Amino acid sequence: QAKQQGGSVFRMFTESMKLAVRQQLDLELDLRRALKDSEFCLHFQPLVRVSDNTIIGAECLLRWHHPTKGMVYPDVFITALEQSGFMLEAGDAVIDLAFGQLQHWQREGVWPQDARLSVNISPSQFFDENFVEKIIQRLRVYDVQPTSIELEITESTVMQDIRGTMQKIEALRSMGVRFALDDFGTGYSSLSYLKLLPVDVLKIDRSFVKDAIDATSNDAAILQTIIRLARHLKLEVVAEGVETQPHLDLLRDNGCDNYQGYLYSRPIDAEAFRTLLLSHRGALTTV
Ligand code: C2E
Ligand code: MG
Ligand code: MG
Ligand code: MG
Repeated sequence: QAKQQGGSVFRMFTESMKLAVRQQLDLELDLRRALKDSEFCLHFQPLVRVSDNTIIGAECLLRWHHPTKGMVYPDVFITALEQSGFMLEAGDAVIDLAFGQLQHWQREGVWPQDARLSVNISPSQFFDENFVEKIIQRLRVYDVQPTSIELEITESTVMQDIRGTMQKIEALRSMGVRFALDDFGTGYSSLSYLKLLPVDVLKIDRSFVKDAIDATSNDAAILQTIIRLARHLKLEVVAEGVETQPHLDLLRDNGCDNYQGYLYSRPIDAEAFRTLLLSHRGALTTV
């Protein structure tokens, strides 16, 4: 009886493993086609100033228009891109889409003067030996000012090679490209590295914002401490995942510079973002 049960459990296990392997292979084939057929596009989430709700930029977020599954989100495919070795290629596509879109908006005159477009950079892109060259080359191709670009890297990227990271960041920053440390607080980076890192912006991960509703809670204390730390280090601080007015009030009370979140806008497609920019500009000039 027991042996029989063990056998069937084992069979179930191998079946589910086979299924997992097959799903992984299917996903890889899908991704290969997606890259070849340019099924990826970018959505844009406004970056907003806390003090007056002015749009001061946008973050590019990758989306996959799957021919049968519809819109697919990064949680489903970023890891698969990394594992299958396609992330570098996908990252190049993201840079082209982002810089190309920015060039378009700038030529059209809808892009605000000092606004920045923020692009997420994966570890495999960042540690590619041609990374710095590639960014400089793409800036030139799309005739985009380095000062209108911000690159987001995560703590875990930085921690893989602190010295190499600093050199690469410095090389691009000397041209005017800004750097943000994304998902701050979720990695394992030592705070002592933070003061050495030549970044401009600290983005507080949304997990710290989410539960910081009550100003006297532990989560609020953590949020306040991160904001204070960033200000002390002369870093701009951005809160991610701001969904409610109380969150925004708390951030304002604690001197957080900028925010992103569903409260202001979800990530939206290029056309919708353009419309938002235009109405926003109208609102600003009529005030
Ligand atoms: P991230 O860079 O930290 O981006 C913020 C994520 O939070 C986005 O998820 C965004 O849609 C979501 N978000 C924004 N506001 C809110 C809010 O108010 N509430 C909640 N619950 N969520 C909010 P998304 O677009 O699914 O992207 C997830 C992650 O995938 C990104 O996290 C980033 O790490 C990665 N990713 C996205 N696009 C790219 C890309 O082009 N390249 C690379 N390497 N990674 C990317
Ligand atoms: Mg990001
Ligand atoms: Mg983030
Ligand atoms: Mg995040």
